[in-house]
Amino acid sequence: MYINASYIKPRTLEEAVALLAAGEARILSGGTDFYPALGDRVVREAVVDVSALAELRGVSREADRFRIGGLTTWSEIIRTPLPRCFDALKSAAREVGGVQIQNRGTVAGNLCNASPAADGVPPLLALDAEVELVSRTGVRRIPLADFIVGSRKTQRKADELLTAVLVPRALEDAASTFMKLGARRYLVISISMVAAVVQVRDQRVLAARIAVGSCSAVARRLRALEGELMGTSVRDGLGGAVRPEHLAPLSPIDDVRATAEYRMDASLRLVQRALNSCVESG
Ligand SMILES: Cc1cc2nc3c(=O)[nH]c(=O)nc-3n(C[C@H](O)[C@H](O)[C@H](O)COP(=O)(O)OP(=O)(O)OC[C@H]3O[C@@H](n4cnc5c(N)ncnc54)[C@H](O)[C@@H]3O)c2cc1C
Repeated sequence: MYINASYIKPRTLEEAVALLAAGEARILSGGTDFYPALGDRVVREAVVDVSALAELRGVSREADRFRIGGLTTWSEIIRTPLPRCFDALKSAAREVGGVQIQNRGTVAGNLCNASPAADGVPPLLALDAEVELVSRTGVRRIPLADFIVGSRKTQRKADELLTAVLVPRALEDAASTFMKLGARRYLVISISMVAAVVQVRDQRVLAARIAVGSCSAVARRLRALEGELMGTSVRDGLGGAVRPEHLAPLSPIDDVRATAEYRMDASLRLVQRALNSCVESG
């Protein structure tokens, strides 16, 4: 059998974007979504394996933001000391498959694969993250909320590499929580998942960000609820403020994992618990 494919492993970002500019190619990072998605098929396109680009690994602190290199693995996210606003992202990282998957799977792969059930998306949406895309012609940054446009669909152009996720430092001292509901405790695709980030001053909410995944083609922020929580006292918790109408941005489906109705009910409870957990953790 003749297979018209090539495999190239660049050593620098410059080399990688030059290869992507030279013609259509598939990007390979950890391969934990790439290979399962192939099923029985053989790769026929050129493959650019970016996993050797050390410059895209790790988390760094810049003047007004954190830079999470696109190739940072979930295990690296778990191990890196980070402020509490990242607790939700760390919890999500611990939920991505098992340890072997966390050792290989990257943040960029999770976002670019754009599964409605991607665990990395709600915590990063709740942190107002942006993605950085680099091609041979330049760099562009777009909010994560605009980057993923549908199930398995993003705004990435064929010659662009997701090099980093940028998180503003404005919510650095906020508490954050991630809660995932599945049919069993481990190694599970979620029925619903919620990330909440809550910043409190003098016992009142200064900022709240809530994102729900697995209940629409793209994870959604609950902006009406976020607005209503501003200035609310946290003394009796925040869960009581959540009403079914706050879930209006969600459009869950019936599937093998749960009915749409169950997903809505579960999401309501997860949002209530996540908000309470944020304020209980002080
Ligand atoms: C057994 C198993 C369990 C899993 N469990 C979970 C789970 O619980 N939760 C969850 O969210 N995910 C889960 N996953 C999915 C997967 O592990 C994650 O989404 C992971 O983060 C993907 O990263 P990767 O580096 O392996 O991506 P890859 O497989 O290398 O790539 C995924 C996609 O992103 C593109 N891509 C990769 N890197 C870049 C880049 N830098 N720039 C542009 N495009 C890029 C690739 O072309 C491909 O289309 C599981 C997978 C397996 C096999």
